[in-house]
Amino acid sequence: MSRERLVVVGNGMAATRLVETLIARRYGGHITVIGEEPVPAYNRILLSAVLEGTHRVEALTMRDAEWFASVGVDLRLGSRVLQVSRERSDVMLVDGTTIPFDRLVMATGSIPTLPPIRGLVQVNGQLHPKVHAFRSLADCSRLLAELTPGRRAVVVGGGLLGLQVARALGVRGVATEIVEGSEHLLSSRIDERGGSILKRGLKKLGTDVYTGARAVRLSDDGLRLDNGYTLETDLVILTAGGRPSTALARQAGLFVRRGVVVDAHLASITDPRVHAIGDCAEFAGRVTGFVPPAWEQAVVLADRLCGGEATYSGSRSVARLRASDLEVAVLGDPEHTEGEVVEVTNPIAGTHRKLVVQGGVIVAAALVGDLARVGLITQLHDRRTVLGPHEPGELLMAERPSSAESAELPDDAEVCACAGVSAGRVRACRTLDEVRGSTRATTGCGGCAAVVAQLLSTTRGQALRHEVTGADAREGNGVPSALNG
Ligand SMILES: Cc1cc2nc3c(=O)[nH]c(=O)nc-3n(C[C@H](O)[C@H](O)[C@H](O)COP(=O)(O)OP(=O)(O)OC[C@H]3O[C@@H](n4cnc5c(N)ncnc54)[C@H](O)[C@@H]3O)c2cc1C
Repeated sequence: MSRERLVVVGNGMAATRLVETLIARRYGGHITVIGEEPVPAYNRILLSAVLEGTHRVEALTMRDAEWFASVGVDLRLGSRVLQVSRERSDVMLVDGTTIPFDRLVMATGSIPTLPPIRGLVQVNGQLHPKVHAFRSLADCSRLLAELTPGRRAVVVGGGLLGLQVARALGVRGVATEIVEGSEHLLSSRIDERGGSILKRGLKKLGTDVYTGARAVRLSDDGLRLDNGYTLETDLVILTAGGRPSTALARQAGLFVRRGVVVDAHLASITDPRVHAIGDCAEFAGRVTGFVPPAWEQAVVLADRLCGGEATYSGSRSVARLRASDLEVAVLGDPEHTEGEVVEVTNPIAGTHRKLVVQGGVIVAAALVGDLARVGLITQLHDRRTVLGPHEPGELLMAERPSSAESAELPDDAEVCACAGVSAGRVRACRTLDEVRGSTRATTGCGGCAAVVAQLLSTTRGQALRHEVTGADAREGNGVPSALNG
């Protein structure tokens, strides 16, 4: 019998995890991966770390071309799929080449949306030279090349990405301002009190924030806001959202709402031979836009392609801000989840902590300015632990926990949210390389690096701690912070 021909469109974070898992599971088919970007698959989460200067570009590479060749996968870099024909069962590349498939995986990610600002796009259809998107390594390199001393920047959008970019520019010494149309920062995830704590924090770090103001026009004078202000600037960075990249799927006649609509097998509801994972997929009315669900979907799909019975039922939402001196973690949807709200705000210390509790169980949480308890709170949430009447308050009031706390984590407590790795799986490893290779923990956002280091050091002694929190955490994927990357 001939081998199944599997074609994967996109060589991003979801596709890479899919291929890694297929190889680990000894998938019997022939895999072709087609990626539009000319560079090897990289960790997109860490682009702002490159912008900030804490990581080198090379440290972002997930799997290079040599690895793909060594495992027998046909990788086509710098190749865009122009058309999918379900009738002929093939894809056509920009250069006219066609590649036949028995199964197709769409892993095309998302594309930045252009806010309605006059002057952003020039008459020739190109973006104004001051304007930058921030989605790819090419965007990042282009922006880095502009960061000469004395430059001023305006970041349009006060969401997670906007704050990361603004902070990175601030660290680089660029005078940076943020414009956010909503009344407060991170308005889709945290409340007004949390937003104003963040705004004050940014102000202290030298970044001005204009909330409740929309940028309306870019001209030689600067960026004009609808409140009458004009911000003089050399750079305008667009971070005001993205949308699933679905043009190819639509053209192929697949059912698309916001994303490519898939079922519990991550198959298109139009054609079971075509799958979608990551930012471009829509499951149960939701698109995700984060790495943990993309990786969860990749692992489920790999299992099915290898003949397994795994099904996907949705992912927990965990959002973490990755930026120096700004700490935010949001579990679930605290602004739209019903329940009793327990919150503690300390504007002097710059912290805001909020739990949404239903019948004693934490169903959502937002933590700003202090993530010391994020691991414990996530664990209580995941296990649906019923808390006594005083416990939510005590949890929020408690002093920062000792570093020994993670050593007491039970084996089934989740340590790495990106790759869904438990404390027990980390404890079963002897080295950081083994943790990375066999579990992929620390290779996503890196927020779990410190906890992984502690878990390893308690099993193997103090020496390993240096390996992880020293050179590795500075230069690799590890960013020392609290639990749950
Ligand atoms: C700066 C930044 C910071 C982020 N920070 C975080 C974070 O802290 N935590 C978190 O969880 N998530 C974060 N995200 C989101 C995260 O990166 C995405 O959720 C993740 O990359 C999704 O993986 P994906 O494979 O679906 O898409 P992508 O990684 O975007 O990969 C899609 C790939 O498909 C390619 N492609 C598209 N169309 C075609 C075509 N027709 N032919 C060939 N190739 C094609 C694209 O060029 C791209 O390389 C961040 C994103 C950005 C941009």
